Amino acid sequence: MSCDQELTTQSYLDGELQGVAAAQAERHLQTCASCQALAAGTADLSDALRKASRYRAPDALRARIVSRFGREPVRLPTRNFWLGAFSGATVSALAAGFALLALLPPSAATLTQSVADAHARALLNGQTIMVASSNHHTVKPWLAAHAAISPPVADFSAQGFALAGGRMDEVAGSRAAVMVYRHGNHQLELFAWPDRGAKLPQPGMTHGFRTGFWKSGDLDFAAISDVDKDAFQKFIALAQAQRE
Ligand SMILES: [Zn+2]
Repeated sequence: MSCDQELTTQSYLDGELQGVAAAQAERHLQTCASCQALAAGTADLSDALRKASRYRAPDALRARIVSRFGREPVRLPTRNFWLGAFSGATVSALAAGFALLALLPPSAATLTQSVADAHARALLNGQTIMVASSNHHTVKPWLAAHAAISPPVADFSAQGFALAGGRMDEVAGSRAAVMVYRHGNHQLELFAWPDRGAKLPQPGMTHGFRTGFWKSGDLDFAAISDVDKDAFQKFIALAQAQRE
């Protein structure tokens, strides 16, 4: 499938269009699957180009994260990992086990730990952003293509929370889309993953990060950051109010 407006879309993604032309290209991109695929491909390219300049947590923050956790944050073993590690009959047995596990909703404690681990791991590895853009029309199709989840993506620059980009990650064994925001020197992350009927954790502090959880539509959401309480609540209110 291709579209006769791909050149225009490409110019838009390259930031070459302004005013009415940009608005038209943006509207087209919202409804055209072919151009969204193009945007996702462009995002891959910009990901490669930006690897050298990607965000890395400052040393002080890295030290704080490690001391809060008392260890390096871990990644829960995934099915692919285990499939790579074993073979033959063991695989089928393990795969069946993981398939069964995947059906069971994770506990609130597992969710909190998993989101905090994913956030800290990304900060430590300098891999918080896989697609760097303040343009939600770039971030959203990239997340849809890579995380297979299409949460609402908005820029809240006017309210003090600038969209910096997104990445795919993992929450308690589910593939998750992550929207990354900047607020002064702080980073806020908004996780979204398919709802499996889990009971969500209460808001709280985990390893020095504030966390908040909610459900919307068929997705579970989590916000996590080290910003102050007022800013965190403001961010959650913005995130909860947005619609497709
Ligand atoms: Zn198109």
